Amino acid sequence: MATGHKNRQIVLKRRPVGAPAAEDFAIVEGAVPEPGDGEVLARALWLSLDPYMRGRMSDRKSYAPSVALGAVMVARTVSRVIDSRDSGFAPGEIVLGPGGWQDYAVLPAASLRKLDPDAAPVSTALGVLGMPGMTAYVGLLDIGRPAKGETVVVSAASGAVGSVVGQIARIKGCRVVGVAGGDTKCRYVVDELGFDACLDHRAPGLADALARACPGGIDVYFENVGGAVQRAVWPLLNDFARVPVCGLIAQYNDVEPVPGPNLTPVVTKRLTVRGFIVSDHGDRWGDFYRDVSAWVREGRIKYREDVVDGLERAPEAFIGLLEGRNFGKLLVRVTG
Ligand code: NDP
Repeated sequence: MATGHKNRQIVLKRRPVGAPAAEDFAIVEGAVPEPGDGEVLARALWLSLDPYMRGRMSDRKSYAPSVALGAVMVARTVSRVIDSRDSGFAPGEIVLGPGGWQDYAVLPAASLRKLDPDAAPVSTALGVLGMPGMTAYVGLLDIGRPAKGETVVVSAASGAVGSVVGQIARIKGCRVVGVAGGDTKCRYVVDELGFDACLDHRAPGLADALARACPGGIDVYFENVGGAVQRAVWPLLNDFARVPVCGLIAQYNDVEPVPGPNLTPVVTKRLTVRGFIVSDHGDRWGDFYRDVSAWVREGRIKYREDVVDGLERAPEAFIGLLEGRNFGKLLVRVTG
């Protein structure tokens, strides 16, 4: 029991208009809650910050409900069980669950998955071996359907999803071109992750650079960002190219919807453009764990974590995620 401890929570104070600001959040302190029957009290070790959270801060209708004003921001956490009123969990165990932006959470036992710290560093359950890795796996393999020798382009290439997309595409025998923000990220993508090329979307002339890097056109574009990168990619898509639309982070802070794209090539080139949400693909978790854990163990998939220390720094770190300030899977270390 955590008597004497306080629970710090980061709540949504105001709905951001455009880019989120520190003043949209507040930190409040309260008592550590008590678990009821079938519940577990867990203390956060790692908190995952992900782009989808921008959507939860807005009251626009979407595929998941918004966070209410004054409520704790949602997040997956890797936590230590402190107290358990469920026979399946014991104090000291490490669990993955929907803990939110707070130190302590009372969670239904059914929402938790036990982690084995000897199998992999537990933080990977929020990144390469968790939701972002799974997004890359199903989006690329089931929707992108890359074939050996094809050219795959992925945006936000150094990030949690993009880095895994490109490395799986390499494993499948594709030529892989990443797009990332800045020289350091691009060098990492080529030198460490083994992509064939990586282009800086902040440098001038992206469209020409991309055309040179993809002389045979593009067969799969794994869309993570939208905006200017999408506009550079679109003319280079080959007939029958596939575009898994995973995310459009360049547009998440837009106040007005962007003007509609010209979809003529969807017809003339017979493109397959398909949006997807990872949570619809639950039947693939088993395959994902089997394949990606093996590839990580064998060193065929590498990952990078960007760790921010302290729950109180979650808002500023999240704001940075939407500006490309993170380099790798963004995590908050809540407890050392
Ligand atoms: P990342 O770790 O890739 O971090 C986000 C990155 O996006 C930033 O580092 C930055 O990289 C890039 N970015 C931010 N703003 C812009 C911009 N204006 N233009 C171009 N790039 C920008 O995040 P994730 O890997 O977690 O997420 C990647 C994408 O996948 C997001 O769009 C996210 O919403 C989506 N997603 C979708 C899921 C689904 O089920 N459909 C599930 C999980 C994620 P850089 O510096 O390289 O530009």
